[in-house]
Amino acid sequence: MITAGVDIGSTTSKVVLLNDDGIMAREVIVNGALPADSAWDLFQNTLINAGIQRKAVAAVAMTGYGRRLANFGDMIITEIKSCGLGAVAQTCPAGQIYTVIDVGGQDTKVISLNDDGDVEDFAMNDKCAAGTGRFLEVMADALEVGVEELGLLAQQSRRPVAISSTCTVFAESEVIAQMSRGAPKSDIVAGLHAAIASRVAGLAGQVGLEEAVVMTGGVAQNIGVVRALETQISLPIHLPAEPQLVGALGAALLAYVKRETSNDA
Ligand code: ADP
Repeated sequence: MITAGVDIGSTTSKVVLLNDDGIMAREVIVNGALPADSAWDLFQNTLINAGIQRKAVAAVAMTGYGRRLANFGDMIITEIKSCGLGAVAQTCPAGQIYTVIDVGGQDTKVISLNDDGDVEDFAMNDKCAAGTGRFLEVMADALEVGVEELGLLAQQSRRPVAISSTCTVFAESEVIAQMSRGAPKSDIVAGLHAAIASRVAGLAGQVGLEEAVVMTGGVAQNIGVVRALETQISLPIHLPAEPQLVGALGAALLAYVKRETSNDA
């Protein structure tokens, strides 16, 4: 059986196709003006690249911020639930993972899981770019580097610059001021990572942190943020193999289980 998970995020759309052996295809796209259209294009391309037709997919589960915007899914799953399921599947089994920190393009979630891997509680920041991937995108633009370069740049830092504001607008002004003072980009980036980490750690404090802690979302690909967050929360962070795809994977998994159960009935 094949199922699909489609995660329509604020910044990117992701598709994961699952079959009986595990993940058979995965793709990510940066959303255009209409995220539902981006997700639809991505879904079709993923099917073409995997060499299968829509009718071969037993169920399509939609998740993410834009999950209700598209009409090609068979079921809808909250991003909190799909993120928890995907994180368990790609890291430690249920009963060993208790906290998932998901930092995406425009929201950050901290999810606490119970012994069975089910969601027990969560906190979310989706009101403000501070503490999200958008914050890093704005700063990367100001520094004229790519977001994918930030992690390695931070590792070259010798004396991180203190960024006093976590507000995106004020922090951008600080970055520009630091650049004009000649501060190395690596030190500015390290300071920015500390600022975002402090914001995310504050959110994590609202639900409480219990080991093992897993980080997901596109920002988990930035090793500089991961290390800065480990410092802030004084706990090691486990990373899934494909952090940005965790939500889509969780949705595909739930679709798989639901179809299997309904076929059994
Ligand atoms: P959403 O699901 O909310 O659309 P994602 O989970 O896809 O968002 O995360 C998008 C964020 O991930 C971007 O804002 C950016 O900061 C970060 N990001 C994306 N790709 C990379 C990369 N290759 N390296 C580091 N960070 C990345």
